[in-house]
Amino acid sequence: MGTYSKEDILRLVEEEDIQFIRMQFTDLFGQLKNVAVTASQIGRALDGEIMLDGSSIQGSVRVEESDQYLRPDPATFAILTWRPQYGKVARLICDIYNPDGTPFDGDPRNILKRALRQAKSMGYDFHVGPELEFFLFQTDEEGRPTVKTSDKAGYFDLGPLDLGEGTRREVVLALEKMGVEIEASHHETAAGQHEIDLKYADALTAADNIMTFKLAVKTLAQKNGLYATFMPKPLRDAAGNGMHVNMSLFQDGRNLFYDESGERKLSLLARQFIAGLLEHAGSFCALTNPVVNSYKRLIPGYEAPCCLAWSESNRSALIRIPDPRGQGTRAELRSPDTACNPYLAFAACLAAGLDGVTRGLTPPPAVAGNLYAMPPEELAARGIRSLPVSLDAAVCAMETDKVIMEALGPYAARYAAGKRQEWEEYRTQVSQWELHRYLANC
Ligand code: GLU
Ligand code: MG
Repeated sequence: MGTYSKEDILRLVEEEDIQFIRMQFTDLFGQLKNVAVTASQIGRALDGEIMLDGSSIQGSVRVEESDQYLRPDPATFAILTWRPQYGKVARLICDIYNPDGTPFDGDPRNILKRALRQAKSMGYDFHVGPELEFFLFQTDEEGRPTVKTSDKAGYFDLGPLDLGEGTRREVVLALEKMGVEIEASHHETAAGQHEIDLKYADALTAADNIMTFKLAVKTLAQKNGLYATFMPKPLRDAAGNGMHVNMSLFQDGRNLFYDESGERKLSLLARQFIAGLLEHAGSFCALTNPVVNSYKRLIPGYEAPCCLAWSESNRSALIRIPDPRGQGTRAELRSPDTACNPYLAFAACLAAGLDGVTRGLTPPPAVAGNLYAMPPEELAARGIRSLPVSLDAAVCAMETDKVIMEALGPYAARYAAGKRQEWEEYRTQVSQWELHRYLANC
């Protein structure tokens, strides 16, 4: 993203013939929202005078105290490349403020900023590189999404097998024009599945980039007659959509996870951070894996983790340490999925890792073997716990974890209540599977 001042933006709106500016923010449950203002209102918008009715936003304030203000972050100014190029549309990502001028506690961007300030006070910058997976499916005659694809490609395949190549290319080019750096893109394991890896950035920029990325993928897929989904496990017998998160702590531009003389060339700090992630991963699951369907991805056999273990290169583990060292040293957390609210997920992961640092935790021994194939007795003997198996279990774990609840702040209970309601809605459904299994047999 750029480093625009207010003056730059006023000038650009004029010079670039920008007619609309979208003031964007993300609600507590990860939904991107926006209100568009016309170019004539850009001065007011930059001064933080655009209001929203907070009571109409999920997880936000009560109706009696609903006025809130959008304060744009000038650094996030970007032209939406997929909108008309005459009478252009730009966007600004905003923070939400209360009428008394204080930051709103239920604003996910504010929650992440608070966590980053905490890290900074300890001398650390939190860097994050997300790997985003998604499916491109066909739509039916009425334009509704299906789970069908004619694409027959697999991991790293290319056209003509890969029918999503064109859309992927458009996404990458659009994002690069908007200042989002892309590291790599490729076809993933399942037919119709793709991955785009964003270059690591400070966690706030990375979370902003993820929201931009999802919008770009959905919009450009639609333009190409396809439907993009980040649903964690749309197909029972195919790989799900993960969002691996590569994490590291930096200080003055230096990666503190690297230590030439450390075991596996990892620093003590890296090991403590990993221990903190392992300690809290069961409870931040409610944030990194936020929907009922998330837990259908976390099963053996599809390169998604099920157990709380770490490893050097084993893809069945929760945390993997990819090969590069030096400035590229990082811990790859493999549990998150792309349905998550990245601001909350990163705030929780950072709090978890820093708790490991503060308490000087030591991680358990790294596991080399395939965890999917390990019998329950062996897992128990090694003290390897499982990730929660449902959204309900994850929310219960989160509510009892002080570190994660504090990282979320006053709106943690609101988040948990929203997720519990989602679970109740699911729990009280009678599914096709149940009818098939029990109707005749009971
Ligand atoms: N799609 C897998 C998942 O659900 C990950 C595949 C990979 O290793 O990139 O996490
Ligand atoms: Mg992948």
